[in-house]
Amino acid sequence: MTKKELLYEGKAKKLFSHKEKDKLIQYFKDDATAFNKKKHDVMENKGILNNLISEHIFTHLRNNGIENHFIKRINEREQLVRKLEIIPIEVIIRNIAAGTLSKRLGIEEGKELPGPLIEFTLKNDNLDDPIISEEHIRVFEWASVNEIKEIKNQSIKVNKALIGLFINVGIILVDFKIEFGRLITENGNKIILADEISPDSCRLWDKKSLKKLDKDRFRRNLGGLIDAYKEVATRLGIDIKNN
Ligand code: 5GP
Repeated sequence: MTKKELLYEGKAKKLFSHKEKDKLIQYFKDDATAFNKKKHDVMENKGILNNLISEHIFTHLRNNGIENHFIKRINEREQLVRKLEIIPIEVIIRNIAAGTLSKRLGIEEGKELPGPLIEFTLKNDNLDDPIISEEHIRVFEWASVNEIKEIKNQSIKVNKALIGLFINVGIILVDFKIEFGRLITENGNKIILADEISPDSCRLWDKKSLKKLDKDRFRRNLGGLIDAYKEVATRLGIDIKNN
């Protein structure tokens, strides 16, 4: 067996090479970070839960016609994904005002937005992932105009699919962050949804009580992060005991 080579280590995940050159192994860590690593802790089993939840969500998206990098879950912490050239941008989709949007613009947290709001940040920890406009993306050639259009189209589709998935289990999708990559083929490049989608990267509120079921429990010192992630998984119908 070929030895796996660590290609990248992020705040909550590692990426390893795979014997098939067009694939990678995505490993979910237990580390929880916030405010760009200024706050750090280790939450036992968080990686296992995020691996399961992300598998469930990417499979749901595929079943709803949204192609993505997920191939299969290998074990409790690893999944096999398609190798892409990652676009160095984080796409944030918001349905309800919260977090940095509320802080930046003084908009009351919990205010429903008239329609989904898409924001872009630059993936750069040293700069604290600064917010950027489509113009920055175009001028600095992080993505082409057509790619930006495609990213926005796909983001709106992902939002629709996820709002439905979560509301069916009594959860409001407040906002979330996604990333995209380029699949380089002989017939040209294709924009594909990548990374993970989990309570680490989404704001999820219980529909009735508005209880936070996401990483804000860690960011805001509310406690009960693992129980909240387990609750999300269980409501989605994921068998967390036998996985
Ligand atoms: P905010 O900008 O309000 O902090 O975050 C908006 C949404 O994007 C939240 O659901 C948050 O979890 C997610 N998000 C923003 N930046 C990051 C990041 O660097 N990593 C992860 N995992 N999620 C992020």
